[in-house]
Amino acid sequence: MNEQLDAVVVGAGFGGLYMLRRMKQMGLSVRAYEAGGGVGGTWYWNRYPGCRCDVESLDYSYSFDPELEQEWAWTDRYPSQPDVERYLNHVADRFGLRPDIQFDTRVTAARFDSGDGSWVVETDRGDSVRATFCVLAVGCLSARNVPAFPGIGSFEGPVVHTGAWPAEGVDFTGERVGVIGTGSSGVQAIPLIAEQARRLFVFQRTPHFVVPANNHPLSAAAVDERKAVYPSHREMLREGFFGFTLALNPRSALDATEEERRAVYEAAWQTGGPTLLGSFGDLLTDRAANDTAANFVRGKIASIVHDPKVAALLTPTDYPIGTKRLVQGTGYYETYNRDNVTLVDVRSDPIREITRNGLATGSSRYELDAIVCATGYDAVTGAVLALDVRGRDGVSLRDHWADGPRAYLGVAVAGFPNLFVITGPGSPSVVSNVVLSVEQHVDWIAGCIDFLRSEDLRSIEATGDAESAWMDHVGEVAAKTLFPATDSWYVGANIPGKPRVFMAYLGGVGPYRRRCDEVAARAYEGFVTRPAAEPAARASA
Ligand code: NAP
Repeated sequence: MNEQLDAVVVGAGFGGLYMLRRMKQMGLSVRAYEAGGGVGGTWYWNRYPGCRCDVESLDYSYSFDPELEQEWAWTDRYPSQPDVERYLNHVADRFGLRPDIQFDTRVTAARFDSGDGSWVVETDRGDSVRATFCVLAVGCLSARNVPAFPGIGSFEGPVVHTGAWPAEGVDFTGERVGVIGTGSSGVQAIPLIAEQARRLFVFQRTPHFVVPANNHPLSAAAVDERKAVYPSHREMLREGFFGFTLALNPRSALDATEEERRAVYEAAWQTGGPTLLGSFGDLLTDRAANDTAANFVRGKIASIVHDPKVAALLTPTDYPIGTKRLVQGTGYYETYNRDNVTLVDVRSDPIREITRNGLATGSSRYELDAIVCATGYDAVTGAVLALDVRGRDGVSLRDHWADGPRAYLGVAVAGFPNLFVITGPGSPSVVSNVVLSVEQHVDWIAGCIDFLRSEDLRSIEATGDAESAWMDHVGEVAAKTLFPATDSWYVGANIPGKPRVFMAYLGGVGPYRRRCDEVAARAYEGFVTRPAAEPAARASA
């Protein structure tokens, strides 16, 4: 007989830890399974040089416990990977979460048993437990994408993905290193690898727009100032658009003069971070407005990079700025002025194969001692579908999502009772401060479970109609922006064969939260609930 729990949580990153905390507070019997050897999720695996968050520390942290918020001392404007990992370890210890987490254990399958309405959860360690609720807190950017380059297995040196960086580090001293990929991960790692390696070849397919992160130590005064107003600050973020501190100027870029725009963009460049995208209200909705910001960054690239041919290759030309994640870098463009760094354009001359001792494009060969894949993730859905999830009548989630991911409010899936996906497809997740979004989801799920228990209900399930209506809404909101047309991981364009759907909700975290709260207030409108003893469904909408 399998062990019977109230809940299983898959993952012990930001989402899993807080879910575990809430469920323990509610008195549920719960176990979290974590594939890593420690807590942190993304922040456990991404130990590559330069890894740092692109949301500010004072925003990218839990708000659920005022004492934690006041106690914890962030030191930098943007937290480094070790900073965040340390913080999450502290959280796990402070709230006594570790004993309920089984580490080094990957959940392989979650199957709904209609007989008794339980989830049967299986792991690669041979565990098989039953739980009334199953929460997938597997992360949006955790299923690594390693392109199937022919010959990759034959390379004699190390091939390291940024999202699976060895804990002991990698020493590139004296080596010839190839980095494939120039998104957020590559842009952070490249300047530091360039300082260590003898030669660095950067294999770039699509240039990203990179703005300065302008990271710096936080002054004690700045920290105190924030701590003094934390509750109202968090409330403002919750009601806002992105969920992080960003001044959004509503004015159209096209209403400003060239001089005014230049001054605004220059100030944003100096401030660093995402500031540039908040400079005008229509940068992400109007191509002509967007061009003004894109051209400003293009001018910066030309002014920083000495070799005009290299500068041209580094300059994005075929998509609007911000519609691929705006990358924050430190000394990134400057790195291409170094004698030991070569930029290789693998758009015009694609990677043909990896050989025993290097990499071959269509026209050239590069001898390498180590290869770094900064090639990103099968975002939002990849880590969910890595599990064999089967709902009512044995329907697999993979089949349910065959034409694109679908989830009501980004949290619940029709046909999968009592299954919750934290920051799932159709939630603001990856276009927001994900910690704030995670807290909102966890609180909502906890409220939902409370509701079921107080009403003596056994299960809750999104209706197909509610799911469809929500995904239509997500698509309609996205269609009003410049995002969907760009080949980005937001639309799954980086994964061959992945259905093209804009996977995040672009309506803003504030309106999203209100919609979720309304659904709950209307006794979970759009869901079907079933009482403990009755097999027949009771529609609540
Ligand atoms: P990414 O943005 O998807 O970048 C992957 C890179 O690999 C792209 O340049 C891509 O080129 C390239 N690539 C993929 N397959 C390739 C192939 N077959 N041949 C050549 N090049 C290939 O991945 P990421 O840099 O890991 O970032 C993912 C997301 O994680 C970010 O957007 C961000 O949300 C998050 N992140 C955040 C931070 C931070 O907070 N600072 C740091 C790291 C990651 P194409 O563009 O042509 O596909």
